[in-house]
Amino acid sequence: DENRQWLAEQAILALNVTSSPGAGKTTLLERTIRGLGADRPIAVIEGDQETLLDAERIRAAGARAVQVNTGAGCHLDADMVHRALHALNPEPQSVLFIENVGNLVCPALFDLGEHSKVVVISVTEGQDKPLKYPHMFAAAGLVLINKIDLIPYVNFDLETCFGYARSVNPGVEILPVSATSGDGVDAWYDWIRTESGVLANASYVPKTR
Ligand code: MG
Ligand code: ZN
Repeated sequence: DENRQWLAEQAILALNVTSSPGAGKTTLLERTIRGLGADRPIAVIEGDQETLLDAERIRAAGARAVQVNTGAGCHLDADMVHRALHALNPEPQSVLFIENVGNLVCPALFDLGEHSKVVVISVTEGQDKPLKYPHMFAAAGLVLINKIDLIPYVNFDLETCFGYARSVNPGVEILPVSATSGDGVDAWYDWIRTESGVLANASYVPKTR
């Protein structure tokens, strides 16, 4: 709740980006920084068990980043994000992406103080992920289906996946994208702009459990 309050005071839109490993979170953020970074400042907290590789990719794309290594841990928690915020000190009215550890299980259960969870699934993983990991998809404010440029080569039906995601989270917004080709990313940028507007017009309300 401290994280949420501080982020609200700074009017920072914090998005907790989750997926299984290899769904394309970092590639999507690289494209987003290049595509949206002229509009508003972007900063990234990178969560991985080991290495600084993703933070280096984010910096190369033009945004500030801090890497959090969780060691044996399988998710980010609010205290890790709190310390990362001190190190990163993102600008007021920026967009903060928190790239979680690749894992569709326990990140669903940890509130980092974010505005929304964005769950990324890719078409190479199978369309049944929302049914197998319902808690993650139920917690999502947005589902991105990534790597749609590969649909001709894999057995993945978008409409079936939409149906599965909505069976665990009725009404959730779902956007098909390709972080490598750029297909669909304008709708993702529009979603970010809309959520930034929602945030700017909202007054801070502590979350009750
Ligand atoms: Mg990554
Ligand atoms: Zn975990």
